[in-house]
Formats: sequence, structure tokens, C-alpha cells
Amino acid sequence: MTEQTPTEEMWLQGRAVVPGVAVGSLFLLPERSLIFREKTSESNVSVEQEIRRFSLAIAESQAELRSLFEKLQNGGFCQEADIVDMHLQMTVDPALCKEVEHTILQKKERAEHVVAEVMEKFRLRFEKIPDVGIRQRFEDVEGVCFRILSFLSTPSTESLKIPPQAILFAKTVTASIVAEMSVNGIGAIVTTQGGAMSHTAIVAKARGIPYVTDIHGVSFRDSFSGSPVIVDGLAGLVILQPSADTVRRYTALRDAHDAYFRNNGDKPIVGGFTKDGSRVSVMANVSGVNDVRQIVSLGLDGVGLYRTEYQVLERRRFPTEHEQADVYTEMVKAAEGRPITIRVFDFGSDKGWEEVASAFPALKQGRRTIDLLLDNPSIFLSHLRAIIRASVHGSLSVLFPMISSIEELDRCLQLFSEAQEQVRHELPLKPMRVGAMVELPALAFRTSSLAGKVDFLSIGTNDLIQYSLAVDRSNSASFDPRLSYHPGLLRLLRFIVQESSDVRIPVCLCGEMASDPLLIPFLVGLGITELSIAPRLSPMVKHVLRSFSTEDAQRIARTVLSFTSAQETYAYLRGQYCTIHCEE
Ligand code: PEP
Ligand code: MG
Repeated sequence: MTEQTPTEEMWLQGRAVVPGVAVGSLFLLPERSLIFREKTSESNVSVEQEIRRFSLAIAESQAELRSLFEKLQNGGFCQEADIVDMHLQMTVDPALCKEVEHTILQKKERAEHVVAEVMEKFRLRFEKIPDVGIRQRFEDVEGVCFRILSFLSTPSTESLKIPPQAILFAKTVTASIVAEMSVNGIGAIVTTQGGAMSHTAIVAKARGIPYVTDIHGVSFRDSFSGSPVIVDGLAGLVILQPSADTVRRYTALRDAHDAYFRNNGDKPIVGGFTKDGSRVSVMANVSGVNDVRQIVSLGLDGVGLYRTEYQVLERRRFPTEHEQADVYTEMVKAAEGRPITIRVFDFGSDKGWEEVASAFPALKQGRRTIDLLLDNPSIFLSHLRAIIRASVHGSLSVLFPMISSIEELDRCLQLFSEAQEQVRHELPLKPMRVGAMVELPALAFRTSSLAGKVDFLSIGTNDLIQYSLAVDRSNSASFDPRLSYHPGLLRLLRFIVQESSDVRIPVCLCGEMASDPLLIPFLVGLGITELSIAPRLSPMVKHVLRSFSTEDAQRIARTVLSFTSAQETYAYLRGQYCTIHCEE
């Protein structure tokens, strides 16, 4: 393991969490929990005084969090403000405060030792939680504890004097630190531990801060601080002591990335077009009405995927038919005439079983909702009626997820017709498009049999990857983003696109692959003309589309399909991407 600052260029491969490029100097964040644990315990500790010091540190943390909350809210950083607010609530949580006070009384130790010890206890408890998403929430506990510790003796994050645009290196970094520093600007984040679904990742993604984790092989020391470093959040690379040539190439790449995320400034927002003017619809994946409002300002063509299950997960119960109809209607109105695709409830192991368990007493782990909905027609019918009620206000399509067989689809279509019949006497029914998600290999191989049954198909690559490559998409240890480059998966995509074109069913691709800048030319080269993505990524996706012609895309697709490994494909696509964007 390297202990000295490397004198030559050194490339470290980690896990890419948030794409983007940063060129800057390294700032090593001190590991504060270690500092506290290393302190030797003292004899004559006054229990009353330690409890008082702890209460004071809590009060100071709350004052700091309140002021940070206001700063973030005034600056329009709403998501970060919500996280800070949650940290504020945690400072009054008896589970934390009572445990610290009780331990001080029992062990007669200094408050900082006890807070560090309690934090470690929480770490052990969280490590045992099977759900990776909840496990990663430990970083919130850690964030709050660090803040309290900082008031017990060491310098606060603010007094660490992190230079603007610094590249932050740490073992782990908490969401509140990222939120705090995003106000002044931070170049990138590099950690040895961290999860793709953690709050840190959510904040970094929302603010466009490149983030690479799982960096090993070098033991970072204080002497590293200030040394030049490059972070490539797309490839998951960290380059220490880069040569002048590497800095030049990466500076060009960073400028190209920054241009993607600039929302065209004062230029009018145009739709998605390739360099030679072929139209590619860029739609939005949304989970609420607020997301729909963004599609208008970002110039998106509509909603390609509305994940309705979030309504249930947020309420922790099934909304009534009229509550649902109100939400869908609000959504249609917010879209200002743009088409919206509403996907029926899609729960799964990755999306909240507990919340739906009471509604489906026969729930068994591992079953997806489409069969649960089919087994519970009254819930399904009221859901479908709500969608039909909203359809009179605009252009709505309904989408059935996780379809595994033609028979299953037929049963969904049958219930959809029944729902239409049930409301026909109340409403002036408008024709609605009906679609199926192709996200299970078993259905993918039956694409042409869907002719005459559906008006469109939506390829859900997130699940298609999970179910064709036997990986768990919610487990960051097993889900490597590069699985998207697997040659078998790419051939399966070609098969779906070709079959649907043969039987003239339009196709949209709505998994995360649709916004992978390396894969976009390949997808367009296959013949895909509709992508559905997270709204914020729309300027980047449109920028990438404009960088290649249809002919380039077809050549790229042909070459990619001749490769036999994901590594080869990735290296080639990355080379194409650098050639196009570094030359701009
Ligand atoms: C998918 O599976 O690719 C998809 C878009 O749906 P979700 O991520 O909601 O399962
Ligand atoms: Mg899916």
C-alpha cells in the first residue's frame, strides 16, 4: 500500500456513483471518530458537567443546523435542506440523547468518548440490517454525531477551511457535510466506503458533484493534502499526480460535462436531435407532480414513466380512487398538453413491501405486484378507473410493468376494458394508449407476439439487467453499473428493438441506461427514438444526442455488437465518447 504522496501519475479504479469530471487539489477530511476514540480516559470526571457539556453541544448543533437549513432553503437547495431538517429532528431523538446521558452516568466518561462510543453502537446495529437502503442511512446518524462531537472539542466543518472546488477525500462522508459544502462549492468526493443509494449519493447527484467510492490501494495521509488530482465520476477513476497531458485531456472533458448540465442559458430549449437532425424524443421518469412541473421548463417531450407506487409508499396506505384521480389529473394539467404515461403500481423487493403488506394479506416475498394486482381485482380496478378518470383532461397512456407472459397481459387488458365500462356512463371516454414493459427476458423473447395487443412498449433495463444477469439492483456490492455493457444484454436489446419494429410497435427505453452518455449513441444506432430519463439529466442527454449523426450511431452499434466482453465494449464506447467530446 502506498504511504507517500506518489511522484508519478497513478490511476486508481473505484466505483462510479455520480458522473462528472473534476480537476483540482485534494483535501483530506480528518476522521474525527478515531480522534475521539484514541483519547485516554481521565479519572475525576464530573458527570453533571459532562451532561451539561453534552446538552450545550446539542444546542449548538441545533443552532448550526437551523442556520444551515435557512441558508440552503434560501439558496433553493430544497433536497439538502430536507436532509438537514431530518438531522435537526435527530438531535432531539431520545434514542440518541438518552443513550448518551445514560452512558455518561453509568461509565463516568467524558461526553466526547461517550458520543463516539454510542455512534459505534449504532454502526454495529445498522450493519446488521438486511435492507441495504436502510443500512446506508447510518451515515445520517454519523453526520449528527460528528456535528455534536465538533462542538465538544474539535474544529467544526466550517473551521476546517476547505478550499472551494477542493476534491474531498475521506473514509466516509456524510450527507450533511456535502450539503454544507455544496453551498461554497466542492469539486468532487472520493471515499473508501459509500453506497450508491445513500443520502450522500442523493445529494451529490442532485448538485452534480462527481462522486467515486471504493477507492483502495493507497493509504491517504495529511501530506497528500493540496496535491493535484482528477476524478472521473463516470468511469469511477481517481488519478493522483496527473501528467500535464492528462490534465489537458480531462480539463476538456470536464468543460464538456459542465456544458451538458448548463440548461442552455438564454438559448431556447429545443427537443432531442442528433447531429444530422433526426428527432429523438426525450421524456421524463417522474414520481410526483413536482417532477412534472420541471418537464415544461426543461423542454422535455412528456412523461415516459410515472412511478405511481410512490403515492402508496409516501402515504403508507393505498390512496382512494378519488385521491388517485386527483393526483393524476393534477399531473396531466401540469404537463400542459404533453403526453403522460402512467405505470400501474409496481412494488417489488426493492420498493416497500411493508407498506403494501396490509392490503395484500397473501403477500409473499419475491412476488411482484402485477400478479398481486391481478389477484386483487378490486384494488386494480379502482386504480385503473382513477387513471381513466384523469385521462379526460389530457393525453394519458397506461403501462403494465413486470409482464412475464401473454396470458398475464391479456388479463390486465381485460381488467382495463372492465374499468372503462364501469366509468363509461359518467365520463366522455377518450381513447388511451396501452403499453407493456419489457423487463423480463421471458417476455423479451415474445416481443412480436405483443402485436395487436399493445400500442407501445417500454424497455425497463433496470430490471432487465437484474433478471437476465442474476444481480440484485438494490445491492451496491453486487450491482456494478458496467453490467449495462454486457454483450448478451446488448444483443437482447437489439432483438427487442428489431422484433418490435417488424411488428410496428413503438418502443421507449426508460431504464437508467437511457441516460448513460456512453450508451446513448449505441441505443440510437439500434433504432431507439424515445428515451425516458431523470428530468435533471435532460440537458446532458440532448447535448450527447447532438454530438453524433445517425450514421455514427449505426456504426457504433455495429461495432459494439461485434464485441464479446463488457470490458471491450466499455473501453470502445469510452474511447468514442472522449474522441467526440474532448475534440469539441
Ligand atoms: C426498469 O426496471 O428499468 C424501470 C424503469 O422501472 P423501475 O426502475 O421502476 O423498476
Ligand atoms: Mg422495473
